[in-house]
Amino acid sequence: MRLDKFLSETGLGTRKEVKFLLKKGGVTVNDVVKKDGKFHVNEEVDTICFHGEKLHYQKFHYFLLNKPKGVLSATEDKVQKTVIDLLDEHDFRSDLFPVGRLDKDTVGLLLITNNGMLAHELLSPKKHVEKEYFAKIKGIATLDTAEKFAKGITLENKEATLPAQLIIEKVDETTHTSEIRIILHEGKFHQIKRMFEAVGMKVIFLERVRMGSLLLDEKLERGEYRRLTGEEVERLA
Ligand code: URA
Repeated sequence: MRLDKFLSETGLGTRKEVKFLLKKGGVTVNDVVKKDGKFHVNEEVDTICFHGEKLHYQKFHYFLLNKPKGVLSATEDKVQKTVIDLLDEHDFRSDLFPVGRLDKDTVGLLLITNNGMLAHELLSPKKHVEKEYFAKIKGIATLDTAEKFAKGITLENKEATLPAQLIIEKVDETTHTSEIRIILHEGKFHQIKRMFEAVGMKVIFLERVRMGSLLLDEKLERGEYRRLTGEEVERLA
């Protein structure tokens, strides 16, 4: 592959930034300085270094974002800010996309990657990957509500959901609100909001806290992100 492609895929920067870095002479291939991005390298065999440090080729990239409110789960939008706009310039790549969609007002865990196969595995209802959410609800959730969710709910448009696990954490009779956790195995449009609507309640706060083995990192503020660790990637795949 071309040296500039290799360098940008290892996360050194955009093609434009990489061109600049090459010109400055910081890149060596097998100990020889290379300044031309068109130079061909074999990532399996060649030792490619940036300022003496060996670079490791990475085809796939994985970022864990703590999505804030008010941002679209999309790759681009002419008017509104998207989750991809939250990435620093040096992490940006045009093939990155969010795995599944959270509503604009939903917060929490969102995986951003360029690995389409993994995204498919995580989202396919057939794979039964658990998605866990914490929610505040207007209404009193009861064991009866949990039983209905466990059987699967028929939504207003007659669409049926798969069984979902509802765990009631707190009920406040004075404010008529409840705090719950819900575990889904699929991701229909506005699914949790529509499930609660179907039982006469309203979601007032929604946060995704887990997707399969991947947990929301509490050290990340809303709007912050980090790369997944190698272990996290291995456990997801
Ligand atoms: N269910 C919803 O209603 N909204 C989300 O963002 C995710 C699940």
